[in-house]
Amino acid sequence: MYDITGKTALITGGTRGIGAAISQLLAERGCKITATYRSDSEAAKELLKSLPGQGHKVYSCDVTAPDQIAELFEKMQKEDQGLDILVNNAGIGYHHPIDKVNYQSWQEGWQQVLATNLIGPANMCYHAAALMKLQQSGVIINISSRGAYRGEPLMPAYGASKAALNSMTQSLAYQLAPYNIRVGAIAPGFVETDMSRSRLVGEIGEGIRSQSPMHRVAQPTEIAEAVLLMSQSNIWMTGSVWDINGASYFR
Ligand code: NAP
Repeated sequence: MYDITGKTALITGGTRGIGAAISQLLAERGCKITATYRSDSEAAKELLKSLPGQGHKVYSCDVTAPDQIAELFEKMQKEDQGLDILVNNAGIGYHHPIDKVNYQSWQEGWQQVLATNLIGPANMCYHAAALMKLQQSGVIINISSRGAYRGEPLMPAYGASKAALNSMTQSLAYQLAPYNIRVGAIAPGFVETDMSRSRLVGEIGEGIRSQSPMHRVAQPTEIAEAVLLMSQSNIWMTGSVWDINGASYFR
């Protein structure tokens, strides 16, 4: 396996769920981790304590606040920290089915979800690309979703945000290639985390598990393994969206 020891990795929402599994695995492989979160400082402290190795950091940074993103990168530059791997993982889901919600909830859903799942990553990419351009190397990995392809009837803004994230991935892959910056996306199906756990019980949970012929959902560590592979610079990956969904959906 390609050696990523000593590389620096920034993971948004890197303190819980899939993000925490990514932080953990990259730290085990010798990366220096900066994990960000929105408000759950307890989970952030726990994560920091659990990471193997030295020099890791956690910061609160709301990806919907462009100023906080700019401050985060200023801090990193002051500390003379380069950036080899950015993982845009922070994301939210929001139930707002068109035939069931009032106009205000409909709008809130679109605004909050696009701000978090699309515009946040776009702003993170802007600052990361500036740093990586100086180094003439880096990889940006966007955590997308199967919902980008099959739609999300109950969470239409979520599906649309991930489809747009995939498109952004391809645009940036092309534009940043001359600087040796690779950009890719990973599109998981259901993963057992706080975001999905309440839907994984009872009959609905059974239905979700049987979407895969393996009759289960993914664990966060399985998504982290895909991120690790994509982060390695010895593979011909840029502009790709990898389906990691246990054959629960073919496109
Ligand atoms: P999760 O368990 O709900 O964790 C979300 C993480 O994102 C938390 O660390 C949270 O911070 C952070 N976050 C949320 N909004 C933020 C904001 N505005 N600014 C900064 N950080 C923010 O979610 P997950 O299930 O691990 O999902 C991670 C990614 O995988 C998301 O992009 C999601 O769309 C994608 N995904 C998940 C599934 C699934 O079934 N779980 C499937 C496909 C794709 P706090 O801890 O402070 O709240």
